Amino acid sequence: MPEVEAKRNFITEIIDEHIDMDRFQGRVHTRFPPEPNGYLHIGHAKSICLNFGLAQQYGGLCNLRFDDTNPAKEEREYIDAIIDDVRWLGYDWGDRLFFASDYFEQLYEMALELIRIGRAYVDELSPDEIRAYRGTLTAPGIESPYRNRPVEENLALFEKMRAGGFQAGEAVLRAKIDMSSGNINLRDPVMYRIINTPHPRTGDTWRIYPMYDFAHGQSDSLEGITHSICTLEYEDHRPLYDWYLDNIEIYHPQQIEFARLNLSHTVLSKRKLIRLVQEGYVQGWDDPRMPTISGLRRRGYTPEAIRQFCAEVGVGKVKGVVALHKLEYHIRQDLNKRANRVMAVLNPLRVVIENYPQDQSEELDAINNPEDASAGKRKVPFSKALYIEREDFMEDPPRKFFRLAPGREVRLRYAYFITCREVIKDSNGEVIELRCTYDPATRGGSAPDGRRPKATLHWVSADHAIEAEARLYDTLFTVENPDADRDQDFTVFINPQSLQVVAPALVEPSLAAAQPGERYQFERLAYFVVDADSTSQRPVFNRIVTLRDQWKKQQQKQPRRRRKQRRAKQTQP
Ligand code: ATP
Ligand code: MG
Repeated sequence: MPEVEAKRNFITEIIDEHIDMDRFQGRVHTRFPPEPNGYLHIGHAKSICLNFGLAQQYGGLCNLRFDDTNPAKEEREYIDAIIDDVRWLGYDWGDRLFFASDYFEQLYEMALELIRIGRAYVDELSPDEIRAYRGTLTAPGIESPYRNRPVEENLALFEKMRAGGFQAGEAVLRAKIDMSSGNINLRDPVMYRIINTPHPRTGDTWRIYPMYDFAHGQSDSLEGITHSICTLEYEDHRPLYDWYLDNIEIYHPQQIEFARLNLSHTVLSKRKLIRLVQEGYVQGWDDPRMPTISGLRRRGYTPEAIRQFCAEVGVGKVKGVVALHKLEYHIRQDLNKRANRVMAVLNPLRVVIENYPQDQSEELDAINNPEDASAGKRKVPFSKALYIEREDFMEDPPRKFFRLAPGREVRLRYAYFITCREVIKDSNGEVIELRCTYDPATRGGSAPDGRRPKATLHWVSADHAIEAEARLYDTLFTVENPDADRDQDFTVFINPQSLQVVAPALVEPSLAAAQPGERYQFERLAYFVVDADSTSQRPVFNRIVTLRDQWKKQQQKQPRRRRKQRRAKQTQP
């Protein structure tokens, strides 16, 4: 069970008040109510952590309930994926997995009740007419000519709707509330409509389906939910939920609204995520660039990091966009503690150690995780021919470049000091090999005379390295808020460089047995996870996150003077 974070926020204040007042007899019972019309995303994770977290914090319960009221958009695949995702995040609903479709019969009875007391009617206006009659924010709506049908007629027509006596769009059941209400949700909202698609759970038992708004509040009520937590868009729906509960005269949970999570450089609406999948911008719902839980999982995120992130962003009433680097911060923190270090070279440059014996190789001790002594050590092979990262060599280095250069000595991690003696180039003048010598007295990475090179490089042994594929992911969008521009479709801002494949990348042989889902730090490069596409012939690694915050680095790249000026400006009163 995930750690219980005793977080205080406006919701815990409300709950505390309820406990003091003895409302709900001190019970705290929440639920996470997804509609199975897409995969869950990081925004849902916030709601999951909040609902399950509150239940833990107060020793209460949290249900998982699918609001599966629209078979035209819902699929079994989504139900299964959602269950997996909530479980992967670390939460447990015990035996309380529910579906709004479990309540279809009861909801139908409630609808009959509203008809009987004269508060619901069957309307035969067309969907377009209903829309036109609804009015606008400034103009009141117009009452339907069918609004004042006698109860008996309504009962008979609703029965006819259920029995398939109408085509979709020919009739709906509406609540009789107030066509001139300032709240459009109260202008005789539709309660039931006809849908001919089979339902993932009830098959073709039903031809009429309750609207989300008619099902949601009553489902909460039937489950004895105390605190019905949802996002701010539902604030305007609360009077409608209240109206249904009051008129049907059933138990009344307390709805509380909070601001939904938005994350920079991505989109978090299921409608848009579906487009990314269906229009082929990504390879599926679990593409490592997707902000879905399954995408983040495949990207190598841990449930702990996601939960920490959700706890840190907190809950409030103010809408905003959380910067992606906050999410990345938490995965970096988590992986720093738990990911074993290994060596891999993504852009190889061959190095030959001239004074190392031709057919010799040796095994050197390497520390798996300096942050975790229990992770132990492993052996890495060293031999005459090695690869280092091309970026770690410069023939004509500028003043601040301390890595390998002609005549210069550097340390090879866990191995020896080497000195570059000669640069070999091809006919185009491109450097293809370095001739170096090593100092046998520096085995393990330290010199008896105490001299210390200014740089330590990672490397792999040419004969021992394994060829792998490294998938380097970047943000899926080039702009912070792809949704912001109303005139342009969000797909315009897709980052054409969101995936760069490096093949072959050369990795140390200890990774031959790496299993999908295992996470590593490629020393000096980034954190990587073994992808599901991995085979023993060709391991595949997804870059989870770089070692340092790239946003910070970009800021630091600005010339010093400007940075100083800016800082001066900021500190001015
Ligand atoms: P979307 O707008 O992405 O389609 P939704 O609200 O329609 O999302 P649901 O399946 O109805 O998706 O959401 C289940 C629960 O998750 C709801 O209680 C909803 O309020 C909450 N939720 C959805 N998106 C977010 C978000 N971005 N931040 C916090 N909670 C969210
Ligand atoms: Mg919704």
